[in-house]
Amino acid sequence: MLIDEIFRKANSNPVLDMMEDSAVVDGSARIAVTTDSFVVTPLKFRGGDIGRLAVCGTVNDLLMRGAVPKYITSAYIIETGADTEILEEIAASMAETAREAGVSVIAGDTKVIEGSGGVYINTTGVGFVNDGVNIKSSNCRVGDKLIVSGNLGDHHAAILSERMEIENEIKSDCAPLGGMVENMLRKGIEIHAMRDITRGGLGTILNEFASASGCGFEIDEEKIPVSQTVKAFAKILGLNIMHMGNEGKLAAVVSAADSERALEIIRSSRYGENAAVIGEVTDGGGVVMKTALGGRRIISELYGEGLPRIC
Ligand code: MG
Repeated sequence: MLIDEIFRKANSNPVLDMMEDSAVVDGSARIAVTTDSFVVTPLKFRGGDIGRLAVCGTVNDLLMRGAVPKYITSAYIIETGADTEILEEIAASMAETAREAGVSVIAGDTKVIEGSGGVYINTTGVGFVNDGVNIKSSNCRVGDKLIVSGNLGDHHAAILSERMEIENEIKSDCAPLGGMVENMLRKGIEIHAMRDITRGGLGTILNEFASASGCGFEIDEEKIPVSQTVKAFAKILGLNIMHMGNEGKLAAVVSAADSERALEIIRSSRYGENAAVIGEVTDGGGVVMKTALGGRRIISELYGEGLPRIC
């Protein structure tokens, strides 16, 4: 009943509607696969909900390897006491985000367990990788430019605001990034490495890029895009913007020759209007930030768990 009335109805498509034990779909020579579980609380927040998040997180991970996202699965674990109205809203939001991202939900599952109204979603995504596309962290080269696609910290600050019942204007940036990635690939931008900026923040990603490639990063604090509200929020709570998570932003390492063109493409794509080139790849190891006051600070990974359940 739950499956038919809520989840299948919201995601209806020819493959899912067959209701077979597994979905059989067309493939390609190289496929990208990723899976993620979403446990965010609250289930609905300013700028999104767990359903939108469960699509965006998975679709964005496919895109970061240059894949064209095609299919996702959705598995719900629902605690007793969960509100049916909220479930319907989550399912509808998931379906709408899947349409926006151009993916079909082709398999799904629901399990109900004892509990107190919690909802958790696992999504697996499949995408196709076109010939000649080769995007990975170890491809960063000295002299490459680092672009971030917009303001940092929004999702993290939005979730924290909800939890702490702080009234402000901050909204999650939760969004599928297919537009800007497709536009860059179609125009032949030489993208070397790419990650969506999620839990652990930009600081963690840059350290991962650095250790995978054997290169370093030098970034300019003054060039990092961040809204005044999030900046103030982070300052009050003692949070480091470099370790705050987003759900609709990416970091791309592109060849220096293509960087201005890539920036223009991202800026003119949906969700990319505040993009900026904020630094470059160097031959020293590690990640160094030139601070607004003229100093130099080493940026580390986020150690430990950080803020739990923002995604
Ligand atoms: Mg990712």
